[in-house]
Amino acid sequence: MLNQQCIFGQATPGGYGALAIIRISGADCFEKLSKVFSFADTNQHWETIESHKVYYGHLKDHSGLIDEALCSIFKAPKSYTKENSAELSIHGSPYIAARLSMALIDAGMTQAQPGEFTMRAFLNGRFDLSQAEAVADIIASHSDASHAMAMKQFRGEFSSRIENLRVKLIDFTALIELELDFSDEDVEFADRSKLLELIEEIVTEISNLRQSFARGNVIKQGIPVTITGRPNAGKSTLLNLLLRDDKALVSEIPGTTRDALEDIISIEGISFRFIDTAGLRDTDDIIENMGIERTLKMVERADIILYIADMTQISAENIQDDIRELNTSVKDFDKKKLIIIGNKTDLLQEIPHGFRQIMEYDIVFISAKRRENIELLENMLKQTVDQNNIQDGFVISNTRHYEALLFSEQALQRVIHGLNSNLTQDLLTADLRDALHHLGTITGKITNDEILDSVFRNFCIGK
Ligand code: GDP
Repeated sequence: MLNQQCIFGQATPGGYGALAIIRISGADCFEKLSKVFSFADTNQHWETIESHKVYYGHLKDHSGLIDEALCSIFKAPKSYTKENSAELSIHGSPYIAARLSMALIDAGMTQAQPGEFTMRAFLNGRFDLSQAEAVADIIASHSDASHAMAMKQFRGEFSSRIENLRVKLIDFTALIELELDFSDEDVEFADRSKLLELIEEIVTEISNLRQSFARGNVIKQGIPVTITGRPNAGKSTLLNLLLRDDKALVSEIPGTTRDALEDIISIEGISFRFIDTAGLRDTDDIIENMGIERTLKMVERADIILYIADMTQISAENIQDDIRELNTSVKDFDKKKLIIIGNKTDLLQEIPHGFRQIMEYDIVFISAKRRENIELLENMLKQTVDQNNIQDGFVISNTRHYEALLFSEQALQRVIHGLNSNLTQDLLTADLRDALHHLGTITGKITNDEILDSVFRNFCIGK
């Protein structure tokens, strides 16, 4: 990688802050940096800098001092990218960052592409591709479960499972190919039924991993929830209430984009993502904004539906009608979890007749206004998730991995079919190679520009 360009990128979010960090990486990183950064200690020279030390100094361009800065040195291969690297801690000003960027470009560096630091780390063998992908997931994690899942992947648990499967398959392929070498003599080195057993075992393992995607995706994205009900039932009041508990926590994380996180709440480590609640937040626009079609679309995308009713306005029969209506117009409605919320208990002496047994659904009575029974509702939300499923075992959460596992599984199904119908060895090996290829794309044993591009495109610059 010696002829790689020297790249730089801001590792911290843009905007104003106490500090910003500019990351630099490339074989000639120190030589180029020396044109911009000078040590405050005049006895210090670039020839004698030490790795993993921090130096205080000045950043200058042709028109003068840009900033005072700290420069951390990481010499190859002991850096994130395994190349010579440096990190400049500057004052968190967009003006300073922009001026410094120009100076670094003048010094011969280029602006990093999204994810380029991590891509170099991968290409230089620091970790495999699925671990590189986990870096983005760690940054994006928003709950105990999504964080734990990303950490497991980053630490190589997934990679070693895939590697194990690959080794088993390679051994298997070797046996079949050996038979191929002796095909004239009509020998069978491997007992066919043993082979079948082995391959079926591998298929089951791949299939289990693949099927964990639905769960993994839910952990990664948050479980989709929607709040629905007639106008004035208390939808926006409830949403604000649920979100408020969590907002303090979110806003304390420096640099998090509020917009993206605003409608996610985390209840004891599990994330719930409220779908399309923009209209709900602005109470005044509620009736105009929430057309029936849009409501149905929201409900369709949710796994959990919170149906809220103003008990002073509608009867249990009205609720049953609404639910029947949803049932007929929403696809897969019976696969979703419905929680009925009887709201405005503060205006009632007692729960109106019939409310306690609305069909077979869970029901909870609250006063959104007085924050009564909200915890009960949160517990019900939490109980919709099978906790054991989340904590035990390994789950995948990446669409690319899902696809690779699926293709691999399909190829192996063809091998099973081939074994059962006494297909010749050369045809079996073609499918085996295909299965191995797809497994290899997960960890990056097999890779190409297209795969790399799809993996790193979604990273931020500076990562
Ligand atoms: P939406 O149209 O379903 O979003 O309903 P809103 O959340 O805007 O609430 C409609 C009205 O009901 C507002 O005036 C709220 O203050 C009021 N409201 C909501 N929840 C309660 C409650 O638990 N008790 C009482 N008394 N009023 C409530």
